[in-house]
Amino acid sequence: MKIVFATGNPHKLKEIKEIAGDTDIEFVLPAEGFNPVENGDTFEENSLIKAKEAARVSKMISLADDTGLCVESLGGAPGIHSARYADTGQARIDKLLKELEPYENRNAEFVCAMTLVDENGNLLHSATGICKGKIAKKQSGNGGFGYDPIFIVEEKNKTMAELSNIEKNEISHRGRALRKILALLTP
Ligand code: IMP
Repeated sequence: MKIVFATGNPHKLKEIKEIAGDTDIEFVLPAEGFNPVENGDTFEENSLIKAKEAARVSKMISLADDTGLCVESLGGAPGIHSARYADTGQARIDKLLKELEPYENRNAEFVCAMTLVDENGNLLHSATGICKGKIAKKQSGNGGFGYDPIFIVEEKNKTMAELSNIEKNEISHRGRALRKILALLTP
């Protein structure tokens, strides 16, 4: 089965393909013109917006992922604004480390909302995956992407960027959400 994965982020597509492993699903990128306006108030709303936009341009069953990092001491920020928190990946990491300097409590979680729609944009399934951890004092590791170098995974005591791809996918927010969707797809 071919499913469009509604993203422009090659790291996410790679992870999705690895997590789906040897299922019979082939993930492909959206057709030209994919340009979602992510103006929802929640991860779920933004995920649905992306999935519908992918179905609109591709006329195929489409899966979207909206992800963010929620930090307890910052009242859940950057949350749905994680991608727009600063201009570059490094600037986002630097800003978060700076803002957290005054706080003892560094608890955080990655939240991933996934939505599957049919070729007409009608909702088929949705699922959320959460990965709990803490924000490190400094970044470490070269794997993954985004905020991974400053996110210490609770179960592993390593940053997400210090894990192998297989280790990240086993415990990640994205792995957890996608496995729920896959379970709903395969009876
Ligand atoms: P979006 O879901 O593509 O809107 O991503 C929101 C922000 O979270 C971006 O800055 C991403 O780089 C970051 N992000 C998304 N997924 C991950 C992840 O698995 N690890 C670390 N950062 C992520």
